Amino acid sequence: MTSIIHLAVPSPLRQLFDYLSDKPVGFWQSGMRVKVNFAGRLCIAIVIRVSEVDSDTNISKLKSIEDIVDTQPLIPDEIMQTVLWVSRYYHHPLGECFQTALPKLLRNGSEADLIQEAWWSKTDNAIEKKLGKKQQACLDILSDYPDGISQSALKASLGAITNSLQALENQGLVKQQLQAKLPVTRSELTLPFQLNEEQQNAVEQVWQQRTQFNSFLLDGITGSGKTEVYIELCERMLQEGKQVLILIPEIGLTGQFVERFQKRLDTSIVILNSAVSDGERKQGWLLAKQGLGKIIIGTRSAVFTPLPDAGLIIIDEEHDSSYKQQDGLRYHARQIALVRAQKRGIPVLMGSATPSLESLYQVQQNRFEPLHLSQRAAGARLPNVHLVDSNGAHPDHGLSDQLLKRMHSHLNAGNQVILFINRRGFAPVLMCHDCGWQAKCRHCDARMVVHQHRQILFCHHCGFIISLAKECPDCESSELKSYGSGTEKIEQHLQTLFPDYPVIRVDRDSTQRVNAFNDIVADIKKGEPQILVGTQMLAKGHDFHDVTLVGVLDTDQGLYSADYRATENLAQMITQITGRAGRGDKAGEVLIQTDQPQHAFWQMLIKEGYAKAAQSLLRERIELAMPPASNWAVIRAEAKERSLALEFLQDVACMLNQAGQQDVMVLGPVPAIMEKKGGRFRAQLLLSSLDRKPLHRLLDTYTAAISRHKLARKLRWSMDIDPVDLL
Ligand code: ADP
Ligand code: ZN
Ligand code: ZN
Repeated sequence: MTSIIHLAVPSPLRQLFDYLSDKPVGFWQSGMRVKVNFAGRLCIAIVIRVSEVDSDTNISKLKSIEDIVDTQPLIPDEIMQTVLWVSRYYHHPLGECFQTALPKLLRNGSEADLIQEAWWSKTDNAIEKKLGKKQQACLDILSDYPDGISQSALKASLGAITNSLQALENQGLVKQQLQAKLPVTRSELTLPFQLNEEQQNAVEQVWQQRTQFNSFLLDGITGSGKTEVYIELCERMLQEGKQVLILIPEIGLTGQFVERFQKRLDTSIVILNSAVSDGERKQGWLLAKQGLGKIIIGTRSAVFTPLPDAGLIIIDEEHDSSYKQQDGLRYHARQIALVRAQKRGIPVLMGSATPSLESLYQVQQNRFEPLHLSQRAAGARLPNVHLVDSNGAHPDHGLSDQLLKRMHSHLNAGNQVILFINRRGFAPVLMCHDCGWQAKCRHCDARMVVHQHRQILFCHHCGFIISLAKECPDCESSELKSYGSGTEKIEQHLQTLFPDYPVIRVDRDSTQRVNAFNDIVADIKKGEPQILVGTQMLAKGHDFHDVTLVGVLDTDQGLYSADYRATENLAQMITQITGRAGRGDKAGEVLIQTDQPQHAFWQMLIKEGYAKAAQSLLRERIELAMPPASNWAVIRAEAKERSLALEFLQDVACMLNQAGQQDVMVLGPVPAIMEKKGGRFRAQLLLSSLDRKPLHRLLDTYTAAISRHKLARKLRWSMDIDPVDLL
């Protein structure tokens, strides 16, 4: 045995593991993968360091590796450094960080080879006999591509072509060559818009400073043309041979957004979202690693994509909470993007119509440079927004007369209407009229939601399902009534109230089928008058030109939520959904139905707009020394026994308090707001510090001790740095 390799292994233990190898030290490089036997099972591990075996080393306890997976490092140095940073910053085991950072096939040991495919091009030979129709069609297309075109692109335009290509090759008219398989591109490119002055200014600011790290916050109202700014910068970066990583939020808007880039950029675009297969994800990652994929568009985890020729990172809708992972490695993609860009000396461009308070705070501190787009690009105007008192709304469905009247008038004028209600299912409460029994989840401190289509009661917190009761389980009365409204109930009532118009429901239940969402979007784009009822999914990014009325129902919970970011999120959501109205040539209108039309929050948001409301919320946070003006970390624990989580966190709190670290406040532990969830009792401990350093120093010192605590094995615990919610 000639070397000891120090490995990151997928395990919750916070250490490297040493294995023996008969290869010399010089063979190994950090970032290679090996197969090892770990705790009785085979797994893939990543080489971090390597050292010599000398006479002093006691190697009798070390196992040998089972197999070598890579002979070249899979993980480039920059990604290695990033993952090491992530592990330190989020206080998360290194081996598990790699699990998040790598595509599934690669972390499971699949070979790091690109899939190849045939590229065809014409030869100079003359045609000697008459060609079949398909053959001629192939040749015609190939004439447009002197550098060749991939077989899959040919197939995309002509259908089955294998035989025709074979025949052409036999006649010496075409030749093939193997190349890395690229995602299929669209052929018809469209011309760019003439950017307006503000757009041009934004582009130039970023472009002038492209050779250094700089963070730009592109604060532009919905429809102001932010996407065009991204596309223009991508075009310029491509001309310099640079790569651009574009991060987008998790749901909904991928299709339309990507299509706009495909229509404008003469390159194949790597897509890394939840819709791509494991194979495509691996191929995309490797294409990016080799610099063959220049434009990469992906959701949260795409922030770990290798970028040897990185020129720019763009984060669209930077305020979106899907950038923060809420389990396992609780990272924020924006944070990691900033760290990578800083190391590489490239700019980051973050865009939003409703910037997060974190980013607005960075602007205040002169760490982010603000860029503004204040007008709707295509000349459309922002809609008029009104508050409607929902007291007196119809008791069955909760819609007010005023809203119904406006709906009729917009639909009669041939336009589309969106009703937004952030609750799926039929109704949130099922109750017995005789004895007061309510349907509650057996595993959570929560009510079961009625889903009428599927005839079930469904817990939205743990996924527990039972069939919809016809009788009260306590008193056997059949007088069961549902209260409150979800998308299903509103849909049902609208079908009766507006029999002449199609009603389309858009929520997680109605869009489960692959492509269901894209089909709905295509249908909406046809422009026929119709009513859309939907959740959050409708709030994000879409550009529907025929929607002129948006109604917002039942958002008052946001005003009373115990979560510290609830009002910020509500303001963002309302502003985003408001931006869905009147995006085309037609003027738009928004009606917000609320129990509290006089509430200061509504008055501020409606009268002053998001920018002012956000500044006021930010001032409040600063006064209360809450994030972003301070740094938080939450240690959470959950156990099947009620007292265990609190007991464990109590010990952790004592340990941390004994450190006598004056700069860090240790608050709690307290039971979580919903204490019981999924059959476990949950509690949390909050750490707060004005300065980031002492907080991280404290966690650096104590994380190992916490993980060795005698109760730690009996429960689940986790660390959440910069938490986005405390629920
Ligand atoms: P955002 O990303 O800020 O919501 P978009 O980039 O989607 O805005 O632009 C909104 C609409 O305006 C789109 O239909 C887009 O095609 C159009 N648009 C953007 N920039 C221009 C421009 N400079 N001239 C004309 N139309 C534009
Ligand atoms: Zn009853
Ligand atoms: Zn439940």
